[in-house]
Amino acid sequence: MSTKKYVAALDIGTTSAKAVLFQKNGVVVAEHECSYPVYQPQPSWVEQDPYEIEQAAIRSLSAAIQKSGIQPSELICVSFSSAMHSLICVNEKHEAISPSITWADGRSVEQASRLKDTFGTDIYLQTGTPLHPMSPLCKLLWMRDTGYGPYVQAAKFVSIKEFLFMRWFGTYIVDYAIASASGLFNIHTFDWHEDALVAAGISKEQLSKPVPSTTICQGLSSELANRMSVSVDIPFVIGSSDGPLANLGIGAINPGDVALTIGTSGAIRQMSSSPRTDELQEIFCYGVTKDLWIMGGPSNNGGIVFQWMKDVFGEIEVERALTSGDASAYDLLSELAKGVKPGADGLLFLPFLNGERAPYWDANARGSYIGLTLAHKKAHMIRAGLEGVIFSMYSIGEALERLAGEPANLFASGGFARSSLWLQMVADIFGKEVQVPVSHQSSAWGAAWFGLYALGEVSSLSAIKTEIPMKETYVPNAVHHQVYRQLYETYRDLYAALKPHFHALATIQKAAK
Ligand code: ADP
Repeated sequence: MSTKKYVAALDIGTTSAKAVLFQKNGVVVAEHECSYPVYQPQPSWVEQDPYEIEQAAIRSLSAAIQKSGIQPSELICVSFSSAMHSLICVNEKHEAISPSITWADGRSVEQASRLKDTFGTDIYLQTGTPLHPMSPLCKLLWMRDTGYGPYVQAAKFVSIKEFLFMRWFGTYIVDYAIASASGLFNIHTFDWHEDALVAAGISKEQLSKPVPSTTICQGLSSELANRMSVSVDIPFVIGSSDGPLANLGIGAINPGDVALTIGTSGAIRQMSSSPRTDELQEIFCYGVTKDLWIMGGPSNNGGIVFQWMKDVFGEIEVERALTSGDASAYDLLSELAKGVKPGADGLLFLPFLNGERAPYWDANARGSYIGLTLAHKKAHMIRAGLEGVIFSMYSIGEALERLAGEPANLFASGGFARSSLWLQMVADIFGKEVQVPVSHQSSAWGAAWFGLYALGEVSSLSAIKTEIPMKETYVPNAVHHQVYRQLYETYRDLYAALKPHFHALATIQKAAK
């Protein structure tokens, strides 16, 4: 074990690069976040500039190290987490010739449904990635169908993390989890999936070499090392994707340990010692290591729902938060919702404001308030909205349970964990204790731990369990749990009942454009 004391994690997220510097026991020493823009050149297109992300990654790492005041020689390594499903076309000269098309991009809806018609569940059962526009497989098929220029000229197709490793170390490598999330990777053999490659119209040579998360790259240029405030020989560990790293960083790694993350989007995930998929195609299953898989379901409607409620109902709270400065608009709206009983006096909310991924995988799903009466006020709308997000996570949890078994321990992280009301709702709706760590940066700590493991500083991945500073535990209220159980019976039936109407509305909306 070295005498060096610190480890850095670089988390390339949906809207920002976050660098977090940890002590070896998980205590955060310094952090810095640099945002980058999201471009929407057409209604369902969601793109980013890979070079802007590169600059943000370099600046955030340098700023975190400078804030901490540590010497570059005290740093053990820099390890990576990144969002999944991004796709960039790269030419022979290793230049990006397309934007980074992100997980949220919806341009390939038709291609996803065509792949389902052609292959049924065959590709999903082998790749573990539900056929949905988020997946690079569907994006590639869209590129092929439309004769997208960068696709025709591309020498390579990479995700944002592969792009950074190529830029900094001149090598095309991809960790198993990021590869799995492409929809092109066989989670049983840990190699690219032939049928998926044929469907996408590309060859294996156009993809990176899949490698374990402990893979180390060294040999930064002195110019880059200077800009990052690190030494030239610092090891960079490829790490994994944000989902499995959040589970690792929160300690949800054993059977029965379930991690619930709600940031802008949401997800519920569990690790498994074998790959598991089934014909229902509701749950993703990605390889993490050759004996560890992550299963779960992502939601498009996490904290973004609260953000929407704040914008639509929270004008007064936003104003008050600006003038008082001691509580955010979210805190004030949570306080208001606390005044309403669990169940919001019979008001239910379907949170599908942004279409939905798991468990329905339906881009045309819509949000709805059900059960409104004259007695319902703004506070009820907020309470029902927050409850709806958790009902939705619970429904994904039910699908996950079918494959992964009953949850025993629930761990929560993400921006929503700032609200004790929202955390108590999780305990009450799931009927389980909910544990919350001190740091919101679970993916970053998971990445840092992989780094320590790769460098031989810690003996196993599971040893992280004793190195996660925990903050509090929420205990379910039995009476509230009963109220929620009854309401959930109705909630569960609503999507199926409304689905034809959601689709009719989407058709009308499309025709009106
Ligand atoms: P990201 O997923 O973009 O990294 P975060 O994890 O920071 O985002 O989560 C952002 C979400 O957290 C917001 O959309 C909001 O719903 C929620 N949030 C932020 N502050 C609070 C708060 N004080 N109380 C409840 N929810 C909050």
